[in-house]
Amino acid sequence: MELKGKKVLVVGLGKSGLAAALFLRRRGAQVTVSDMRSAAALAKEIPALLEHGISVESGGHGLLTFRRQDLIIVSPGVPMDTPELVQVKAFGLPVIGELELAAQFLKGSILAITGSNGKTTTTALTGEILAAAGIETQVGGNIGVPVVDLIEKSSDTSWSVLEVSSFQLESTHLFHPRIAVILNITPDHLDRHGSFENYALAKERIFTVQTAVDMLVLNADNPRTAEAAARSTAQVYWFSLENGVSQGAWVQDGQIVFRPSDNGAIEPIVALKDIPLKGAHNVENVLAAVCAARLAGAPVEAIAKAVQAFRAVEHRLEFVATVNGVDYYNDSKATNVDAAAKAVAAFPGCIHLILGGKDKNSNYADLSDLLRKRVKAVYTIGSAAEKIESQIRGLVPIVHCETLDKAVAAAAKAGHPGDVVLLSPACSSFDQFENYEHRGRVFKQLVMDLRDAQGRS
Ligand code: ADP
Repeated sequence: MELKGKKVLVVGLGKSGLAAALFLRRRGAQVTVSDMRSAAALAKEIPALLEHGISVESGGHGLLTFRRQDLIIVSPGVPMDTPELVQVKAFGLPVIGELELAAQFLKGSILAITGSNGKTTTTALTGEILAAAGIETQVGGNIGVPVVDLIEKSSDTSWSVLEVSSFQLESTHLFHPRIAVILNITPDHLDRHGSFENYALAKERIFTVQTAVDMLVLNADNPRTAEAAARSTAQVYWFSLENGVSQGAWVQDGQIVFRPSDNGAIEPIVALKDIPLKGAHNVENVLAAVCAARLAGAPVEAIAKAVQAFRAVEHRLEFVATVNGVDYYNDSKATNVDAAAKAVAAFPGCIHLILGGKDKNSNYADLSDLLRKRVKAVYTIGSAAEKIESQIRGLVPIVHCETLDKAVAAAAKAGHPGDVVLLSPACSSFDQFENYEHRGRVFKQLVMDLRDAQGRS
């Protein structure tokens, strides 16, 4: 794609939008960015953009700005049904995401990972494994580093390990991973995608451009994911926590094993007891990473070593501290019901569970069984509190807390030695916090304050 002299509009000035604008400018495009936020809210970004010769439209989108372009790059946070986008698409203007833009310039091979939950953990782990195997590797995408920022250092022999979200996949057409992974598809973002099926189909775009020389790794235990195999033209590999698979990775006799093909030999990779991450869901993440890394050519020994050295990514079932014999875990990244369910299932019982935040049209009754079996009490926070309470009423004691500090205080008061206080909110954070990282940091600080207070008493 030739960018020199092209008029390109970047819609949405998040991290990836900013990186895309600067990349386009470096390649000689005439770049404008448009964001709904006010000039005051964008005070940090605007000077750097102007300095690079990029025009800025803030405080709303002008239809004329959109019409004047040759190409539009849309940020993952901007819905595709934004009226201006719908209109320009009707005029035949190409509208793509930062991922699609970057993928056209990225050299080497792409290993892309999507799923409702476990993406960041699996992407980080897969990147670590490939690096440990001495393979030239860069990690990016939804995990924090914009994909356009990987272009410069990519080479014909390098691998880009990318975490990709349904929002990013929604606007791809040519994005072509050599290896694609779908970890799981469970309800999430229904507020934005409209229906579960639309959301699932967005995830499936990860493999639409793949051909018979490419590889697709799927979760055999997740029905909606397994079903996608029927629509793939790539070579399908499987991972499973529950059963053996024809080709791929599974658990056998307390070990993760891999088989390269139907009639290949089974390779033992690593013992479950040597995996430092907590919970069965993390074994699934390791299975997926092992399978993908093996397919990318990582040797067994390097895989085993990297898995054993890998620690939980911040805000993902992250151990915080033990205070008065109670263990505190920060799982702020659990922003949907399935993620929270997996976190609860990682502990045998005695859990004080903090739930709530901004609802995403979720069904919290899906937690019923786990709540009954493993949870001592639920502490609700945020705008989703009433809905959660009405859907789980009568199963366990519920303490209506409004805010995180009240929830931590109430849980600490009720906790006995051996109990667990778990922040795994099943909701997004935007009603009370900037993002899930902010929520997680606040939680950790509250726990540290508790510990300090205990030290003084
Ligand atoms: P993502 O990037 O997809 O949000 P993360 O690795 O950041 O995934 O994990 C987010 C949360 O999802 C974790 O805190 C955990 O509660 C849950 N989780 C992680 N892996 C899985 C999985 N394989 N299946 C279900 N839930 C998971």
